Amino acid sequence: MGLSGLLSRIAGFLGKLSGVRWFIIVDRDARSVATHSPVISDKDAEELKELIINAGEISEAFSKYSLFRRREMKTRTLYVKFNGEGLEVENIGKFVVAINTDEKLLPVFSKIFDLLRRGETVKCENCGRELLLETYTCPRCGRTVPFIVEECPHCGYNLRVKKCPGCGNYIDVRGRVIKRDVGVLATGVLIGILVLLLGIYMGLTVTGNYRLLFYGIGAIMGAIMGLLGYILSSPR
Ligand SMILES: [Zn+2]
Ligand SMILES: [Zn+2]
Repeated sequence: MGLSGLLSRIAGFLGKLSGVRWFIIVDRDARSVATHSPVISDKDAEELKELIINAGEISEAFSKYSLFRRREMKTRTLYVKFNGEGLEVENIGKFVVAINTDEKLLPVFSKIFDLLRRGETVKCENCGRELLLETYTCPRCGRTVPFIVEECPHCGYNLRVKKCPGCGNYIDVRGRVIKRDVGVLATGVLIGILVLLLGIYMGLTVTGNYRLLFYGIGAIMGAIMGLLGYILSSPR
């Protein structure tokens, strides 16, 4: 994938996320604005351009003189926090991406851009869909979040397992397919059968309408147990 293709995917991704106020992507070599979110006017984008190029250069310079030599610390991320908001500046190739976002998303963006710079991707094991720049709607708060988060950055809801946007399989944040818990399913079905048999046995000890009543209760309770096993064995 070419860098411009990647750039439009990044812009599309940032444009969809909840908590992102605005973003702008600048071409450092051409000293021009590549793209920006619609909430910023072209005039504002031009004004911000030089500031963002400078921020990108500061970020680059600090990464060279980093006191931390561990691999994961040598990032090209710079972010500034203010009143629950943040401005994150990321260098990727000749482009500088600046994002004004909810503070909670800053570490997520650092991780995503680090993976992008290393050329690493996260793919669904089943269908091969690239997930790094995919989004997901949190079922609890309804906000749009990056697909690869383990919990919702806004409400904390557990998002370790979700449906792949490509194939619909339940996958974890690394794209590995999560299978139904066969043990839980088998236990539910087994208890269901035992309850049914118990109902039949109880029914045989009585006569008339009471017999049918016990059969009925056994069948309904047995079915509920089986259904419960099915629900509880689901990956989500
Ligand atoms: Zn949420
Ligand atoms: Zn898939």
